[in-house]
Amino acid sequence: MKKQIEQNVQQLLTQIWKPGDLIIAWKNASLPGHRTPAFLYRKEDIQDIVFDSFCDISLAKYLNERNRQEILPPHFKGKIHIVCKPCDAKSVMQTFSDQQISETLVNLIVVACDGIIDRKKIEKHCDQSIVDMQETDFQILCTDISGKEYVFEKRESWLRKCEDARNCDLPYYYGYYFVGDEKEYRTRLKHRYQTHKKLPQDTMSPKELQQKIHQELSRCIRCNACRNICPACFCSDQCVFDKPKERAKLVENQVTTENTILYHMIRFHHIAPNCTGCGECERACPKDIPLHIFFEYFNRCMEEEFGYKPGKTNDERQKLLSYNLGEDLV
Ligand code: SF4
Ligand code: SF4
Ligand code: SF4
Repeated sequence: MKKQIEQNVQQLLTQIWKPGDLIIAWKNASLPGHRTPAFLYRKEDIQDIVFDSFCDISLAKYLNERNRQEILPPHFKGKIHIVCKPCDAKSVMQTFSDQQISETLVNLIVVACDGIIDRKKIEKHCDQSIVDMQETDFQILCTDISGKEYVFEKRESWLRKCEDARNCDLPYYYGYYFVGDEKEYRTRLKHRYQTHKKLPQDTMSPKELQQKIHQELSRCIRCNACRNICPACFCSDQCVFDKPKERAKLVENQVTTENTILYHMIRFHHIAPNCTGCGECERACPKDIPLHIFFEYFNRCMEEEFGYKPGKTNDERQKLLSYNLGEDLV
């Protein structure tokens, strides 16, 4: 199925790409089970594009003004074709909504997705370094450096965000290409909503969640990986954590539990209005802190309070940044 989608993505791009355009997609990396961003400017490179259960990284962050400057050649005038999973497509919508890039410059290609493998889950169960990792329809097959073979069920190896159907919604934006059977995807999603199992954040009281946040964040080493990978973080050199001398020093550098909680509280509040729940922060965290649970919770509070869901549309301005005179105060 995914192989077919990969071929269809390549076929579509071959049709819509024009000289001078950039394609942002995934390609194979040297390590087994790793895929890496591909920035392609030539038609003959389209054949290198892959799409499978290992395409974990979200490419949406490359559309931000800051990241774009690093990948685009000077005087770039073409169109950017970006390939996304539905969850990442919402980050692209949010990038439009945050006015980081005009949607007229982007062709969004959304691929049908039924889950992405959490390599950390698999690596945990292997005795030694993995030298080969392949997928079949339902399983992941690995071989470690000693030649020992392992078989994992895919349904038990998904990223945590893939267990939550809410993350797989398609954006309310009609200007995207969909690769796969969209009707079938929507039906499958509807079924997943109906059979949705309770997630930790669904069953915890606010007090329990607060305790969980404190307990988990006390393991944080303040490496900034969660901040650096976040598609919603685009303040660049204006970030309050990077310019302490020119601003009020909000968080001391010393890694204590208090400083760490404060660091994350600032991030939760800063990012909540444009966090789409893409889960990249959690995936990048070397301490395996379940950040997605916390952001998803803040996100839901935001939706209940303001009727606003980041990433749903391409043109809704963040509620917390767009007060109009005469509007009701919350
Ligand atoms: S959250 Fe949904 S759309 Fe995103 S990778 Fe997982 S299954 Fe795919
Ligand atoms: S990636 Fe993890 S360890 Fe690093 S700062 Fe973020 S929460 Fe802390
Ligand atoms: S905070 Fe985490 S879940 Fe939210 S947009 Fe950033 S990386 Fe994605």
